[in-house]
Amino acid sequence: MHIYPDASVVAGTLSPDEPVIINRPHAAARAARFFATKFPGKSLYAVKANPSPDLIQILWDNGISHYDVASITEVRMVRATLPDATLCFMHPVKTASAIREAYFQHGVRTFSLDTLEEVEKIVDATTDADGNAAKDLRLCVRLRVSSEYSELSLASKFGIDIADAGELLQATRQVADWLGLCFHVGSQAMTPFAYVQALERARAAIADAGVVIDMIDVGGGFPSCYPGMEPPPLEDYFAIIHRHFEALPIAYNAELWCEPGRALSAEYNSLVVKVEKRRGDELYINDGAYGALYDAAHVAWRFPVKAIPREGDRSTELQGFSFYGPTCDDADFMEGPFMLPADIKAGDFIEVGMLGAYGAAMRTAFNGFGGGEVVVAQDEPMASLYTGRKDPRVSDNVVSLR
Ligand SMILES: *Cc1c(COP(=O)(O)O)cnc(C)c1O
Repeated sequence: MHIYPDASVVAGTLSPDEPVIINRPHAAARAARFFATKFPGKSLYAVKANPSPDLIQILWDNGISHYDVASITEVRMVRATLPDATLCFMHPVKTASAIREAYFQHGVRTFSLDTLEEVEKIVDATTDADGNAAKDLRLCVRLRVSSEYSELSLASKFGIDIADAGELLQATRQVADWLGLCFHVGSQAMTPFAYVQALERARAAIADAGVVIDMIDVGGGFPSCYPGMEPPPLEDYFAIIHRHFEALPIAYNAELWCEPGRALSAEYNSLVVKVEKRRGDELYINDGAYGALYDAAHVAWRFPVKAIPREGDRSTELQGFSFYGPTCDDADFMEGPFMLPADIKAGDFIEVGMLGAYGAAMRTAFNGFGGGEVVVAQDEPMASLYTGRKDPRVSDNVVSLR
């Protein structure tokens, strides 16, 4: 993969008609080392945030040994990339064939669940041809918790209600060699208090069940840095989680896990897009709702942008723009406002930052788009939670959500 100093050299050298994904391996490596050394437990990378094998290899090389996978395709891909990694199948609703293949062919032992039916499915699917039930299952009961402190809710789809959790924990304990309790506070949790509230629910469920708990998994939700969303330091999250974990009524040797997706991957990618047309304060660009800018279109996510310098005078005055993506769908629209120089015009290039999480991973080939090169850049991402450096433009570029 070709290495460039930064996005302006990418645009200047390639003058690309298709969007270019920029990888920043050093930024992903730094995030991995941060979690591997500072989180007071084990950090699993949630693969769905960005399933790039290159990224997964970087995380492994920098201390991330466990991977949260949600589909058999993710299981196969991570196993092919990292033969020695520990894979944990943390989707609470799986097919029997996926469980069977994961267990017997890829060495997966850890599975999450939120119903009694799923416990039975896992037990059936991991029983061998001679009728011997698995004796090494590590099962995690997913608890439903509030998403009120997060930018993206994960509260409605998965998780057992606290009122029913005691019974499910007891039943799961009967077949599990090792029993965990997991939850997800929602993505981009803007305060560590999100985890405090969830851990209090976990405490109530454990007290109700009266069973031995071997592991607490606080899930993902660790934030990254976007315009108008500058979270407190991750160390604050880690300290508060650790303190509340220590006070839980669990086995003395119980483990603490987390499953960061966004926080480990957000800084890994940015995107260089080209302006094909300007209509007032709307820019027609070559990536959008069916590409890496899915969240910008669908949940008005705030990604930082900067215009790539060009020959001649460039207005220093910034103005708010909306974007249209390349497909023929009216919904391929990103409201913004994205703050860019007032004189931006067709032919200009823009770098969109912080697209490593749920950005690069969301691209589709709809309407014949979705192609483009991938390159490496050596400069810093537009913002970082791991250097303390924040581009002032990130704060300026405040976009109202929803
Ligand atoms: C998506 C997901 C994650 C990662 O969440 P982030 O908010 O990206 O950190 C972790 N665990 C599970 C079970 C998930 O579904």
